[in-house]
Amino acid sequence: MDKIRLYNTMTRRIEDFVPINEGEVGMYCCGPTVYNYAHIGNLRTYIFEDLLHRSLVRAGYRLKHVMNITDVGHLTGDGDDGEDKMAKSAKESGRSVWDIAAFYTDAFFRDEKDLNIIRPDIVCKATDHIPQMIDIIKRLEEGGHTYISGGNVYFSIDTIDDYGKLARLNLDELKEGARIAVDSNKRNAKDFVLWFTNSKFKDQVMVWDSPWGRGYPGWHIECSAMSSEYLGPHFDIHCGGIDAIPVHHTNEIAQSEAAFGVKPWVDYWCHGEFLLNDKGKMSKSSGEFLTLSVLKEKGYDALDYRYFCLTGHYRSQLKFSFESLDQARSARLTLMRKLAEYRKAGSPADKLSDKASGYLDAFDEAMANDLKAPQALSVLWQALRDDGLDGAQKLALALVMDSILGLDLDRAGEEAGQDDIPSEALELLAQRTQARKAKDWAKADGIRAQLAAMGFKVVDTPQGAHLERL
Ligand code: AMP
Ligand code: ZN
Repeated sequence: MDKIRLYNTMTRRIEDFVPINEGEVGMYCCGPTVYNYAHIGNLRTYIFEDLLHRSLVRAGYRLKHVMNITDVGHLTGDGDDGEDKMAKSAKESGRSVWDIAAFYTDAFFRDEKDLNIIRPDIVCKATDHIPQMIDIIKRLEEGGHTYISGGNVYFSIDTIDDYGKLARLNLDELKEGARIAVDSNKRNAKDFVLWFTNSKFKDQVMVWDSPWGRGYPGWHIECSAMSSEYLGPHFDIHCGGIDAIPVHHTNEIAQSEAAFGVKPWVDYWCHGEFLLNDKGKMSKSSGEFLTLSVLKEKGYDALDYRYFCLTGHYRSQLKFSFESLDQARSARLTLMRKLAEYRKAGSPADKLSDKASGYLDAFDEAMANDLKAPQALSVLWQALRDDGLDGAQKLALALVMDSILGLDLDRAGEEAGQDDIPSEALELLAQRTQARKAKDWAKADGIRAQLAAMGFKVVDTPQGAHLERL
């Protein structure tokens, strides 16, 4: 088993990864709320989790990766305020909540497939696990961690002594917050709903019988219920985006440790940083977000976006721009073209030479060291530029590395014929974007003419340039 080191949000340190059971890993990742398309920021988080998945498998672990689908209970506000996102989306579109959930779940998995994100071993829906949620709430009630107010069941954070440890929330600030609770039913502003019965959403369609009356679960309880169902009450890794730290994961920890009597409930907490746009965090609520379909409509391949994500470390913010995406596309196509040349010349080597193995070790070391994908990628490029390695070695090496990169490098050579726009033209387009950035207008115009001679028109839009056939 190769060593893996991961940054643990709980300790704020990079730690050697040591699983609970030798050779096995249980990993839970919070999945999408299926009320709308995933935006490319959401998808960045799933690409990070995919890199972790692939790295664990490559290191030799037997991995059980669980991801939930949130199809009930996620409100527009994190503090149990706002509307149920699913119900709101259904109302706006005139479709049933069940239709909405099925539609956006399918769309999500299409995006994941296009991005070569390996499907988690278990994908589970919140609405299929209501009895398990009720069971945990009952345990919390028996342990004295709940109260009923205004018809809803709340978790009382004052019944545990370490609430907020993941986010390192300041307890004085929490007390301060208690006086300005949004929901007047709450004793402490940070208390959270486990079960809604007599809520403000009288027209909620998704409701179930429970010991507290007919109603529906709060958002956080689903992840405690589904992770324990498939991974047991104590497991290795829990992932999500960093926005889950202060409320969602904080509340998952509070209720799980109280219900299961285990501490810590999860050994390693791993969080992916945001994808930004000009205005800051890309978010659905701001209304300005890009989907993978939009990128595809503009002529990009989903793997251009995957490559773009690999150029940033998962714990750093990554700023999206079409210029950067063009650069990623250009680099990916150059990579594919180089590999296609080697392939034309012969098959991949059966065995890596010492020199090629050295590159593979450096690549593995970069990924094992808290998933340093940008370094890993640069090791691949160094190897491809090394005159001391022949094409067969380079090809073999790239194919092994692709078990983590997930860039379909084995398809090099096939792509040119399939792509509507030839890679040379796209590469020229990327060079033109660079020239314009450098204010080299003569070069940019020259490239435009070259493209016209190849039968393509350059179309400039505020989002970037793309090609159309003349
Ligand atoms: P949601 O479907 O809204 O529950 O979000 C799905 C995942 O995407 C969560 O893990 C979020 O933390 C994550 N996420 C949301 N916005 C961004 C962003 N701009 N960049 C990266 N990840 C994000
Ligand atoms: Zn969750």
